[in-house]
Amino acid sequence: VMAAAGQKVVLITGCSTGIGLKIAVLLAKDEKQRYHVIATMRDLKKKDKLVEAAGDAYDKTLSLLPLDVCSDESVKQCLNSVKGRHIDVLINNAGIGLVGPVESISMEDMKKVFETNFFGVIRMIKEVMPDMKRRRSGHIIVMSSAMGLQGVIFNDVYAASKFAMEGFCESLAVQLLKFNITLSMIEPGPVHTEFEMKMIEDVSQKEYPGADPDTIHYFKNVYLPSSVDVFQTLGQSPDDIAKCTKKVIE
Ligand code: NDP
Repeated sequence: VMAAAGQKVVLITGCSTGIGLKIAVLLAKDEKQRYHVIATMRDLKKKDKLVEAAGDAYDKTLSLLPLDVCSDESVKQCLNSVKGRHIDVLINNAGIGLVGPVESISMEDMKKVFETNFFGVIRMIKEVMPDMKRRRSGHIIVMSSAMGLQGVIFNDVYAASKFAMEGFCESLAVQLLKFNITLSMIEPGPVHTEFEMKMIEDVSQKEYPGADPDTIHYFKNVYLPSSVDVFQTLGQSPDDIAKCTKKVIE
């Protein structure tokens, strides 16, 4: 992967669909070509949608690399393909959902959610941090969720994985400040992507009358330390979240 002089190298996880794809395309098409985007996905067979959306930017300001955030080896291999392992901006976007009553969800599925949404992010941060610390610069962005602040019925484990991420980031941000590394979290409300379709859905919410849409989308405000930037959005399209992410970098 070769970025032009002066370009920021931005690595994004989970770019096959949804928000990750939109962020990758928006940054790669930046008018001033300020970014070299490394768009990653676990299965490169799914690249067509991204390549088509990127148009002329593909292979110029956007490179593709395979990356499964659940695999140590895949993460190491991906970063070893980046010149000097130099990443200016890491956007941790990959994530999966899980809906259903806890008693009927397998432990295996619950662990998969944590392995992706929590340990997947940590695995990436661990790998990029040494270079960022050495250079005393860098920006780490985490796609959390409004459910990282407020639990929602039948999303127990998903919300817990995002809550866990919030705690991790709030703590890490303080340490990173000393190295001039910024940590930002984005907390979108419901966004229309493939997310819901891919969700591990155990039991239809219809069987559970407690799932009233008016009550499940209420999010409380919480105190956050000033060392973490938090950008909250509610009920937006993936394009809006991509624009928000671009503003966070700029
Ligand atoms: P999508 O399902 O459309 O996209 C998720 C992306 O993550 C896909 O590219 C998927 O790849 C990838 N992914 C999943 N597991 C892995 C893995 N192990 N390694 C690498 N990539 C992986 O969902 P969204 O775009 O909506 O979600 C993006 C982020 O936004 C997630 O972190 C989600 O929690 C968060 N979010 C989403 C909201 C929503 O309502 N949609 C609301 C708030 C936050 P593949 O195609 O291979 O499955």
